[in-house]
Amino acid sequence: MNAKRCLDCDVVLGLNNCYPSHFKHSKYVCKKCQNKRDNSRPCRKKYLKEYTKNHYIENRETYRKKQKQWKLANPKMRCQQAAKRRAAKLQRTPEWSDLDQIKQIYADCPDNLAVDHIIPMQGKFVSGLHVPENLQYLDLPTNSAKHNYFDCFDYLEWVNNGGLENRLTTPYLTPHLRLKIA
Ligand SMILES: [Zn+2]
Repeated sequence: MNAKRCLDCDVVLGLNNCYPSHFKHSKYVCKKCQNKRDNSRPCRKKYLKEYTKNHYIENRETYRKKQKQWKLANPKMRCQQAAKRRAAKLQRTPEWSDLDQIKQIYADCPDNLAVDHIIPMQGKFVSGLHVPENLQYLDLPTNSAKHNYFDCFDYLEWVNNGGLENRLTTPYLTPHLRLKIA
């Protein structure tokens, strides 16, 4: 059997990027393109908005319960979403940022560590990006001690010594943190 492709963008369709009903009924359009199609038809857009709203109101308790369960089951995803919101608010996510890789870094974060932005998004003199290359794992006390501190000369030295490539195993620490930990 030939792989099914989206009519609009030519992406190979799997169950994850295709509405199940579309998969069954062989209307080969991916979720993204279907959304685009819906949005380009004001009447359809309005109908869907209304439908979603009513469905939510009618099943509010079920939605709440599901959301609560999901939150308990996915603490790392919640961290990732919070960071995403924070980055969006600060406009620190460039178009080329690899969002899947970011998700993976959050998902792979060991339980006793937290994901840290190496160059803080809200430093005193700098503002780092929400990109995989700017993420590392820090234990919680170090993370809160680091806060938005940043030393550009120290960082450059770390980068020149291959720090970026090994950041997930050997995180970047500013001098004051290295002293604190030693
Ligand atoms: Zn498509």
